[in-house]
Amino acid sequence: MSKQETYTISVEQEIQHIEMDQPHVVILGAGASCAAFPNGDKNDVKLPLMNNFVDILGLKDLLSGTGIDFKTENFEEIYSQLHQDAAHRKTREELEKVIYEFFFRLEITSEPTIYDHLLLSLREKDYVVTFNWDSFLLQAGRRNSRRFKLPRLLFLHGNVGVGYCEKDKVAGLIGNNCSKCGGALAPIQFLYPIAEKNYHLNGFISLQWKELEEQLRNAFMITIFGYGAPKSDVQAIELMKSAWGEVTQRDMEQTEIIDIRSEDDLCSTWEPFINTNHYETHSDFYDSWISKHPRRTGEAYINQYKNSKFIYDNPVPKEFGFTELWDWYDRLMQVEEFHENT
Ligand SMILES: [Zn+2]
Repeated sequence: MSKQETYTISVEQEIQHIEMDQPHVVILGAGASCAAFPNGDKNDVKLPLMNNFVDILGLKDLLSGTGIDFKTENFEEIYSQLHQDAAHRKTREELEKVIYEFFFRLEITSEPTIYDHLLLSLREKDYVVTFNWDSFLLQAGRRNSRRFKLPRLLFLHGNVGVGYCEKDKVAGLIGNNCSKCGGALAPIQFLYPIAEKNYHLNGFISLQWKELEEQLRNAFMITIFGYGAPKSDVQAIELMKSAWGEVTQRDMEQTEIIDIRSEDDLCSTWEPFINTNHYETHSDFYDSWISKHPRRTGEAYINQYKNSKFIYDNPVPKEFGFTELWDWYDRLMQVEEFHENT
């Protein structure tokens, strides 16, 4: 081997290399759906963030009779106030219905999106965990899972695409029946007043959190994509923090943040997670570790951080349509299948 070959890992070497069995955990917030669908869904419906939620969902008329100041930026605050007063029960129920239907109707666009690239770029051992109510991730999963083994999905705030049988603790796509009792899977309640945001109350959601805690302990890398960690999510932050463990006790693990906010802003939000020198921030998904080392994020991590090699990027061909895109990923998955069978 020449000296240069000893210190570098080519794209072909990365593709042929399967070693990592720990999970890469990716956490998505509303910013990820907005980045994946900058022009809205298939029917041009724009996606909301918390600060324009009332506007985009057209909730003004519903709220105007309640006397609640709905101009506040925090929708969760508004919902909590509705919850406190029994006189608002009908409005609250109507609101829950409107919100559920808004998210339920959202349809994924027909060309490959960031969510398709994200799912295709991770392996079965990995996790994509979302705070979002929209079912874009499930829709992307459905169209790619016919050909590819994809990461596992978790829904930390529930999801309109998921149903659950409380009695049998069986989850599945909404519209399907429970595999044990045969009854219809029920929608998951996803709106909670802030004060009662106790994820252990709801069977489905508590199971999701439990699995996340386990996987975070085991992860070699976390990517946080478009999640602003709002103050109302204190419990969420605390849970992740305790599961991720004391940063000082974790030597090598890498944290990656994909967000359009400034680096200073991001660091103050995520400081508890960030082990000195072991984090990077990107404003664009396509600059991320996932997009540069698809289906080999762990091997790229081993080569760069443990073996101190220079690694070349194998960027996701983001302009490809599905046929070309799937052919491109096929090469990667063939190596994985060969590795599993030997
Ligand atoms: Zn059941």
